[in-house]
Order: sequence, then C-alpha cells, then structure tokens
Amino acid sequence: MLNKEIISKLNNVQTPFYFYDVILLQKTLSKINEESNKYGFHIHYALKANANPKILQINKNAGLGADCVSGNEVKAAIENGFDNQKIVFAGVGKSDAEIIYALQNNIFCFNCESIQEIEVINELAQKNNCTAPIALRINPNVNANTHHYITTGLEENKFGINIWELDAITEKLKTFSNIKLIGLHFHIGSQISDLQPFKSLCLKVNELQKWFEQRKIYIEHINVGGGLGINYHEPDKEAIPDFEAYFKLFHDFLEIRPHQQVHFELGRAIVAQCGTLFSKVLYIKKGIKTNFAILDAGMTELIRPALYQAFHKIENVSSDKPLQPYDVVGPICESSDCFGKAVLLPQTQRGDLIAIRSAGAYGEVMASAYNLRDRVNTVYSDEI
Ligand SMILES: *Cc1c(COP(=O)(O)O)cnc(C)c1O
Repeated sequence: MLNKEIISKLNNVQTPFYFYDVILLQKTLSKINEESNKYGFHIHYALKANANPKILQINKNAGLGADCVSGNEVKAAIENGFDNQKIVFAGVGKSDAEIIYALQNNIFCFNCESIQEIEVINELAQKNNCTAPIALRINPNVNANTHHYITTGLEENKFGINIWELDAITEKLKTFSNIKLIGLHFHIGSQISDLQPFKSLCLKVNELQKWFEQRKIYIEHINVGGGLGINYHEPDKEAIPDFEAYFKLFHDFLEIRPHQQVHFELGRAIVAQCGTLFSKVLYIKKGIKTNFAILDAGMTELIRPALYQAFHKIENVSSDKPLQPYDVVGPICESSDCFGKAVLLPQTQRGDLIAIRSAGAYGEVMASAYNLRDRVNTVYSDEI
C-alpha cells in the first residue's frame, strides 16, 4: 500500500525509480503456497516477468521453482539459489550454448517447441553423455481472449508444437537415444483474467492425455504454464489475484493420473502488483484537447503501454486539487511514448510525484537504454 508515510520518504528519491512492496510480494507468495499446497501442485516463478535479484531471492525463499526462457535466465535462477531440479527451460529458439549450459547444470526439464529442437538437444546430450528430460510444449489451439501480442496458444502463433504434428514427433522420439519424454507443457497466453480459457485448456489436456496413453506413452507431469491476469484498473481492491479459484479450477477439471505431477509457471500474477514506477512531472504543456503532463519516465522504463496499449493506473500522489484530464507522456522521441490519454488527475504541476501502478511485471526487466537513458533506480519497501 502506498500510504502517506511511504510517499513522504519516496519524495526524496531520485526519479524515475521502481518501488517494490516486499510485504505484498511475500503475502502473495504465501497465498500461492497455501492454495497450491491443497492439491500438491508445483509452482515455478517465470523469471522473465522480473529478474531483479531481490525479487528472485524472495521467490526462491518461498520455495518456488524457476521457469526460464533463455540461458541467462537459467543462469540467474541458479546463481540466485533456485534448486536445479526445479528449473524448467522453454523458448522457441534455444541456442546450442544455452542447451549445453542447461544440460551441464542438470535442470528438471526442457520444454521443447519443435522437432528440430528435440533433434539438436538429443545430439548435444549424446555429446555430453547425458539424457535430456523433455516436455513437449503443445499448442492446444485455445484462445486466451487476451491482447493478440500476448496470445501464444493458437495455431497461428510461433510457440509450441501443433497437435497435427504429434504423430510424427512421437515416432521420431523413439529414435532419440538421449531424450526422455517426461511431460506435456502448455502456455496459452498472458493477462488472462477470465478463467474460461483455462477450463478449455484443461479439457484439451484431458483429450491429449488419452491420445498419448493409447500409444502407450505415459507422462510424469503436466505443466499448464502461467498467464493468470491481474486487476490493472483497481490494484488496491485486488492486490492479490484470486489464486483460490484459479488452482481449484485446475483441480476440478484436469484429469490427473495417480502420481502425476501438475506444474504451473506464474509470472505476472506474482509480481505485477508489488511494483510501482514513480516519476516526477517535468513540464505541463498545453495541448488541443487536453494538456500534456510530461514525465521524467518514459517507454524506456515501462514499455507496456507503447508496446501493447496496456493500461496502467496513474496517480498524482502530490496533489489533491480538482480533477483535470492530461495526456501523460514520457520524454522519449517516439509518439507511442505515452502512458495514458485524457487521464483524470488532480491539477498537476512541475515537480509532482506520479505513481504508475501495477508495474512489477514486464516493467523494469524490459527497460532499455534507448535515447541513451540511464538505468532506472529501484527502491524496496524494507530498505527505506
Ligand atoms: C511468459 C511465460 C510464462 C509466464 O506468463 P505470465 O503471464 O507472466 O504468468 C509462463 N510460461 C512461459 C513458457 C512463458 O513464456
């Protein structure tokens, strides 16, 4: 929570900076553990949402595994103490060096996205005298009803193996001596706030399980990926997503075999609400319909609005004057560098502190140096 005491401390910090509410993150993780333990589910934190070492430490300390999409993410997980046997590695374009690194570090599972990738992993495993545990990332052709840039589970997307390829793949797998198929993996998209697509996913997984069993292929674990959405419009009302309903849905609809494990890979739902991007107003400039509030943070610090028209709640924590509409923009030389159009803010002036909420996921980790910007600062609630 952004109470007056915290705000007054933050007023003296050099802007722009990310503020992380460590207590909220820990509460979120406790809730995840409480709800997932009811069913014995295994949870991996998706590092790509936020790979800040302190955030990684807190996730690791809560007992989560790691979901990685690059060799450097595998490395970051290992360096921050995640158990190697709780690391999964996905991604459509794993390089040879990344695969070798993961093999040498004995990770839990490679989530594989094409026949050719499995062929290469088999060759590299052979050279390294080991067996690679893999899951097939299957594209279930389930529509996540989310923004098209963050939909991943449709046949038209680049991710995963299409169902019509499974026959050929299972035949090929028999010829690979250094591959062990241990799981089926799915990930249908991100910021999914209606649970219906997850139910569709469960039903698809049930069908696929039967398909494999008919071919006498027995699967040790089902990994249903991540994608649970958060409330960007009312972050204070719903600071912790409804993990109870989410995990219960999988328990109710997934037909799990005895001893089969169920894995999840959550990113956004864990870290989004604990992060806020703070920025100061540099200038107010007259526009035609509304005035511009020009901030010292831009798309280089938080690219989500520019990249996929994402909504973030914007607050002026310095003013309590009457509301006026502002186009809230950054300083970067791109017209898409805009955090929100006609945003109602209390009358705003140079020097006011602006909070851009729900920015803990896909915020700091996507920061860039475009326009030769400085690296964004970070502040933690337990260090101020
Ligand atoms: C991005 C990603 C996730 C996490 O997605 P969220 O929407 O942040 O929960 C999980 N699994 C894979 C394979 C991903 O690429």
